[in-house]
Formats: sequence, structure tokens, C-alpha cells
Amino acid sequence: MRVLPLIAGGLLTSLAFALHAHSNHDHGHKHHAHDHSHDKHHHDHGDSLGAHVHGVANLNLVLDGAILAVELDSPADNILGFEYLPSSNTDIATTRAAMDTLRQADSVISLPSAAGCTLDEVTLESPIFAAVEATHQHDHDHKHGDKARAHNDISAQYQFTCSNPEALSTLDVSLFEHFPRTETLILQAITPSGQQGGELSAGNNRIRF
Ligand SMILES: [Zn+2]
Repeated sequence: MRVLPLIAGGLLTSLAFALHAHSNHDHGHKHHAHDHSHDKHHHDHGDSLGAHVHGVANLNLVLDGAILAVELDSPADNILGFEYLPSSNTDIATTRAAMDTLRQADSVISLPSAAGCTLDEVTLESPIFAAVEATHQHDHDHKHGDKARAHNDISAQYQFTCSNPEALSTLDVSLFEHFPRTETLILQAITPSGQQGGELSAGNNRIRF
């Protein structure tokens, strides 16, 4: 179960839809009469490159019953120090090390032990990670269609089950220690106490519910 994409994705899609409702107004039932209207819209691979600012990342957090879902969405530069698809051994090693670090959820967020949370699932997504994993394979015909892109993002999603979610009153973000190129984290959280937003930094890394 991937709760976060369903809930936070729904939230973010709703926000995006509200922002773009006017420009997308013509889509819908009149679709077949305006088949070429899509050409006017740039479909940016469904990610958030429009908001991609180096040093800034997004942290989305949803607590729903016992399930805590956390999603980090960051410019790759914050994590790796580069955003091109790596080909040198040094850059590939940097990428693999970052993937190993991100797979440890407490490299991003540290949860109070009293909450009794266990990590169920980690999902890492990035064109850069995909490219590095493809170097495992002997698929020399594989085409990297994104190679020309100057910018790439990294997404890390974590799902926890917590035996005592009431104890999740404070969460400390540890991302800044592990990836100090991250300066600002924009928080969006949905918990039983409501919706919460804010900005976090190395000197202000505590989330309180
Ligand atoms: Zn960038």
C-alpha cells in the first residue's frame, strides 16, 4: 500500500488543479472536438520541475491511523551535488552511496521511539538512479532520453506502521546533516490534528504536531 501518493498526491493534484483550473477548463467532454488543444500544454513528465530550486526540497507527510507516509522530493543537486546522468565511476559511486543513505529512513527523518514505528517500504525514484541501475545491465542499446535535461529530481518515499502513533508529536528532520546542500525544506503535513505547512532548515529541524 502506498498511502502517501494516494493522499498527498491527491492533495497536491487538487492544489495544482485549482491553480490551473482556468487553463485546463476546455479539457473534458468537449475533448474530441479539440484533440489538438494538448499541444498548447507542456506535459513536464508529471514532476515538479517548475518548482525546482537548488537548495530547496519538499517534504510531504501524511499520518493516517497507524500509517505514516513521508515523501522527500528534492532537486538531485541537493543530494548528489550534480544533476546530470552519471557516467564516471566517481559519480556512479556518489550516486550509489546516496541511494544507500536514503534507504535508511533515519537519514531523512527521525521518529520518537515511543511511537513504535517500523519501516514497511522505501521507494527511491530518479532518472539518475535509473541510469545508475541500468549500468548493471549489459544493455548498451538503452537510450537515455533524459540525457539532455539539465535538471533532475530525486524522490524518496517511506511508509511506516506505528504501534503508538499518538507519540508522533515531534519529528526531527535529519536530512540536513546527511545532505547539507539542502538548505530549506518546505513541509506539508496532514495529520489527525489537521493540515500543517512550514519551512524547515538545519537550525529549525523539528516538526511539532
Ligand atoms: Zn536543477
